[in-house]
Amino acid sequence: MYKYAYHIVYSAGMIQPVHYDTLIYNVRIASMQANGKPYGALTGSAVAIHNGVIADILDSDSLDAVTAETVTDAQQQWLLPGFIDCHTHLVYGGDRANEFEMRLQGLTYKDIALQGGGIKSTVAKTRAACEEALFKSAVKRANRLAEEGVTTIEVKSGYGLDNDTELRMLRVAKSLESELPVRISTTFLGAHALPAEFADNADAYIDFVCDTVLPNVARNNLADAVDVFCESIGFTNAQTEKVFKAAQQYGLPVKAHVEQLTDSKGAVLAAKYGALSVDHIEYLAESDIPHLAASGSVAVLLPGAFYYLHETQKPPVNTLRQHNVPMAVATDLNPGSSPVASLLTAMNMACVLFALTPEEALRGGTLYAAKALGLSDRGEIKPGKLADLTLWDIESPAELVYTLNGHRPTQVFLGGQHV
Ligand SMILES: [Zn+2]
Repeated sequence: MYKYAYHIVYSAGMIQPVHYDTLIYNVRIASMQANGKPYGALTGSAVAIHNGVIADILDSDSLDAVTAETVTDAQQQWLLPGFIDCHTHLVYGGDRANEFEMRLQGLTYKDIALQGGGIKSTVAKTRAACEEALFKSAVKRANRLAEEGVTTIEVKSGYGLDNDTELRMLRVAKSLESELPVRISTTFLGAHALPAEFADNADAYIDFVCDTVLPNVARNNLADAVDVFCESIGFTNAQTEKVFKAAQQYGLPVKAHVEQLTDSKGAVLAAKYGALSVDHIEYLAESDIPHLAASGSVAVLLPGAFYYLHETQKPPVNTLRQHNVPMAVATDLNPGSSPVASLLTAMNMACVLFALTPEEALRGGTLYAAKALGLSDRGEIKPGKLADLTLWDIESPAELVYTLNGHRPTQVFLGGQHV
């Protein structure tokens, strides 16, 4: 117990003291609320937490009247919401460092594919890996994210492309919560690529995804959303729509990888199905952006893949801004096109490569990342939201995305618990 004076409130005629589990005071708050202030800054200088949730934002002169079990003097550090990486593929077998090496020794993607490389090699290694092996390698990657203050991670399946491995990937993803101080959101991405067993028969594979795997995923409560790789080298709009309809039958929200390499109108289709997010969108036509504004879908920017693939076509950030389409930023952490285990690096890339402001990038890794996952209980510092918080020894929030590998949080709270 830290202070003994009580903040007095009157409830049903009784005098009751205000007592909290945790109090973080003497803090500068970048709430990330869309309140018109830079970084959602608040005038209060203390955050009170009860039962894992932010209970109140307090001024310094009201602190004498508050008690708490645990009290932290933040010494004027900045408090931010825990970061949310809303797009990863971090559960997989093997890695593709050898292909990275082969590319730089002069081999083409085609040479590598002919040697069984690319996504095929990841599918083979993921299918061959037992649950423990997948877990062990995924923990390492998830831990890299957590060290930077990521408290919620989305993880997709999509390297199994068969019933058992897809379910195994999702189980492994969920179990990361038991090992690390993070919350996990899972996404079923059976429609990621065409497995060899269904070569030249993508329609039959989509039927298998919709009629066999998805029902098992749903029955076992293994996914929070359903995703599709809708692209010239992925699945067609008709196939994508079939998956969306199946997801709807199970009450699962949808999202999609769209317009990464071509403008195939996947974003318009996703908007029609009320997609939580459309991801990549380098080739999104400006004239299609009103569809996203109407559906409330979040535009998820993935600059790691843009960087690794040496892409030149940039997402239409300015027009998204003009239409108030919320933009999120994520790592796309995966073994091929974006082996980026750092959300702060992805935010920095979003600023340097796509011209987001540091404030937009940070909101893209908090408030709008939460929205991209349909999680309205987190992503900002506000009474009623989960007390997933990070404390930073910085002079301004912009420092976090201005540097590369410049900062780690001094403290992380998950549900109000110091971890
Ligand atoms: Zn992806």
